[in-house]
Amino acid sequence: MVTNRTFTMLKPDAVEKGHVGAILEKINVSGFRIVALKLTQMTTADAKAFYAIHSERPFFGELVEYMTRGPIIAAILEKENAVDDFRTLIGATNPADAADGTIRKLYAASIGENAVHGSDSDENAAIESAFHFSGREQF
Ligand code: UDP
Ligand code: MG
Repeated sequence: MVTNRTFTMLKPDAVEKGHVGAILEKINVSGFRIVALKLTQMTTADAKAFYAIHSERPFFGELVEYMTRGPIIAAILEKENAVDDFRTLIGATNPADAADGTIRKLYAASIGENAVHGSDSDENAAIESAFHFSGREQF
């Protein structure tokens, strides 16, 4: 398994607010190489499958509505220690708890609409990357 890669989505709120360029710039200057990148939109079935681990949580319905309401940017990123370093770069799930300078502190509105996704393990990074990208789309 490739262990120096992570998967991210710039979520619908980030795209709607025009934050894509600024967030990609921050990702690049933080040392991540873009392996794959696209503008796409998740269907309801996609979002339910992607977030299946949260299906029993009270916020699941809102999460699916939010993640499907407009396009997202999906990307695979490469860097030494990619998963942990990217989670540090994006900050806590709730932007109120996110450290200064993190992407969620800068661009997220709330714990629900928090601008960006980052994989939480090497295993999930591989699963989530394969969910959105074929091998031919990865460089
Ligand atoms: N979420 C939410 N309410 C919560 C917790 C999470 O709406 O109380 C949403 C939020 O968009 C979050 C996503 O569900 O990013 C996945 O939750 P997780 O706990 O995996 O947070 P993450 O790994 O994204 O920081
Ligand atoms: Mg998570």
